[in-house]
Amino acid sequence: MLNDNCLFCKIIQGKIPSSKVYEDEYMLVFKDIEPKAKVHLLAVPKTHFALLSDMDGEGAKMLAHIFKKIPEVAAANGCEKGYRLVINQGEDAGQTVHHLHVHILGGQTLDW
Ligand code: 5GP
Ligand code: ZN
Repeated sequence: MLNDNCLFCKIIQGKIPSSKVYEDEYMLVFKDIEPKAKVHLLAVPKTHFALLSDMDGEGAKMLAHIFKKIPEVAAANGCEKGYRLVINQGEDAGQTVHHLHVHILGGQTLDW
């Protein structure tokens, strides 16, 4: 289920434009508006929840699908030599958008 007050739900519904790189029935991948690496994509499930601790069965199914698809989406978008996945969870991690998303960072050598 999507949430009318959520930025990423609006992007999923096409109410806010984004640079989409991959979409299917469970997930959307689009370019981060403020990239933190040469390639910076966001993979989001097409159901609204902010935290892993809020995830239901449907969300878990979508997240499993996301992780299965990420290698091909990353490789097709400039991350053939590797990439980093980040999921910020809550305040201390600096999560700013409260719709669970996987950052895909790459296209360059990444400092740890
Ligand atoms: P968080 O800090 O919650 O882990 O990540 C949120 C990410 O969403 C940030 O990297 C930020 O640049 C990105 N972002 C915020 N607003 C928008 C937007 O309207 N469009 C896109 N494509 N990315 C956004
Ligand atoms: Zn949402």
